[in-house]
Amino acid sequence: MDSGLYVVATPIGNFGDMSQRAVEVLKNADLIAVEDTRHSQRLLQFFSIDTPVMAYHDHSDERALHRIGSCLSDGGSVALVSDAGTPLISDPGYRLVRHVQDRGFAVRPVPGACAAIAALSVSGVPTDRFLFEGFLPARDGARLNRLNALASEPVTLIFYEAPHRIDASLQSMIKAFGETREAVLAREITKLFETIKRGSLAELSQFVSDDSNQQRGEIVVIVAGKPKGEQELDADVSALLLRLSQELPAKRAAAVVADCTGLRKKQLYDYLLAMKQDRGG
Ligand code: SAM
Repeated sequence: MDSGLYVVATPIGNFGDMSQRAVEVLKNADLIAVEDTRHSQRLLQFFSIDTPVMAYHDHSDERALHRIGSCLSDGGSVALVSDAGTPLISDPGYRLVRHVQDRGFAVRPVPGACAAIAALSVSGVPTDRFLFEGFLPARDGARLNRLNALASEPVTLIFYEAPHRIDASLQSMIKAFGETREAVLAREITKLFETIKRGSLAELSQFVSDDSNQQRGEIVVIVAGKPKGEQELDADVSALLLRLSQELPAKRAAAVVADCTGLRKKQLYDYLLAMKQDRGG
C-alpha cells in the first residue's frame, strides 16, 4: 500500500455498507487513528482487523501528531476513521489532514457513507445545490440567529441534530423559515428503525412531538431552500405589494403590481400568500 494518510469512511449503522477497500486499507495500514478506541473496537473486530490503534481527535496534543508524522516519514501508512461515516464531516480530522499535507505527505480518501449525503439522496427535495450546516448551536437564541441568517437561502439546507434537541430545533426552524417550508426528517438511516419523512415543518414538528420514538437515535434534518416565488422580488416591489394587499384582495394587489412592473401575476400572488403564511396571517 502506498505511504500516506488514508481518510476512511465507515458505516453509519449497517456494517454491510463497509467497502471492501476500506477493510483492505484498515488491514494493511501501519496504524489506525480513531476518534474513540472503544467505539471502533466493534467495527475492527467485526472485520477481523488487528492493526494497531491510537486515539486521535482535533484537540489531541502534539505527541499524537508526532506519532502519525513519524509513521509517514518512515514510509508507512496511517488510516483515520471516526465513530461513524466520513471523518471530518462534523467529526475530527481537519487539523490532522492539514498537518500531514503541509509536511508534504499524501492524503488519500477512501469514500463511503455520510449521513448528510445519504439523507439528501432519499429526501425528495432538490439536490442540485445544497448547504451543509452540521450541528446548530444548542442554545435557543444562538440557534434562532443562525437559522434566521439562512432563511433566504434558495438552496437545500442540511442539518445534523441530537435527538434531545429535535423538538426545539424544529420549533426554531418554524420561527425562522415559516411553518409551510418543506423539510425532511431522516432518522436512524440504514438501521432497524430507519424513518424518512417529508412534510411541512409544521407537520414534522407535530410528528415528532406526537411520538417520542421520533426523538431517539440519530437524525438529519433537511430543509428545502426558500421557494422561488418568494425569492425574486426586490425590496421595493415586495413593500408595494404588501402595502397594496392591505387595501385590496390579494389577487387584485398582485394584478396591479403585475401591471406596473411587468412581473407575472401568479408569482406575485404566490409571494403574497407565502408572506402571509409566514406572518401567520
Ligand atoms: N461523520 C459523520 C457522517 O459522515 O455523517 C457524522 C458524524 S456527527 C458526529 C453525528 C451526526 O450525524 C448524528 O448526530 C446525526 O445527526 C448524523 N448521523 C450519523 N449517523 C446517522 C444515521 N444513521 N441516521 C441519521 N443521522 C445520522
